[in-house]
Amino acid sequence: MTTVDVPFWKRKRLDELSRDEWESLCDGCARCCVHKLEDEDSGEIYYTAVACRLLDISTCRCTSYSDRTKHVPGCIPLTAKRVGEFQWLPHTCAYRLIAEGKDLEPWHPLISGSDQSVHEAGISVRGRVIPEEMVDLDDLEDFIADFDDPGQAADDDDMDDGDAVADDAAEEPR
Ligand code: SF4
Ligand code: SF4
Repeated sequence: MTTVDVPFWKRKRLDELSRDEWESLCDGCARCCVHKLEDEDSGEIYYTAVACRLLDISTCRCTSYSDRTKHVPGCIPLTAKRVGEFQWLPHTCAYRLIAEGKDLEPWHPLISGSDQSVHEAGISVRGRVIPEEMVDLDDLEDFIADFDDPGQAADDDDMDDGDAVADDAAEEPR
């Protein structure tokens, strides 16, 4: 096998990736684009089924990615140097996996060749979150979600497509 046969995420460190390579590592799960709560005593982070107001919950993509930090101050761009600091990243996150020396999962678009595989595998938050506008943010505790549980889904009545938020204890995306 020659060097060119080895995918970039296996032969480069995160801080060696080009901009395009870095962006392509994101699997599009949007697990990082939901409101999160932090237990002040334990430091434990809890995900909720309430999406950031800029998230298109049908595509799981940010509707204003290039300007996201202007619109959502709590959205902290993920960088190679800071990946290790972001303990709140889901264990399925490609950046976290690579930072921990692991390989991408079979459903990752770079492996499957399809940007739908992350949804088909039940990894993304599609169908499992509701827009921020539908929730009183003081009630976030009522929406704590486990995205590793394939049975967890937002109530059908709350599943209208639309933009949704995030910005609490630990909020941020890529
Ligand atoms: S940054 Fe990580 S958690 Fe967020 S959407 Fe991309 S792969 Fe998923
Ligand atoms: S958390 Fe950041 S990247 Fe995700 S939808 Fe909100 S503003 Fe966009």
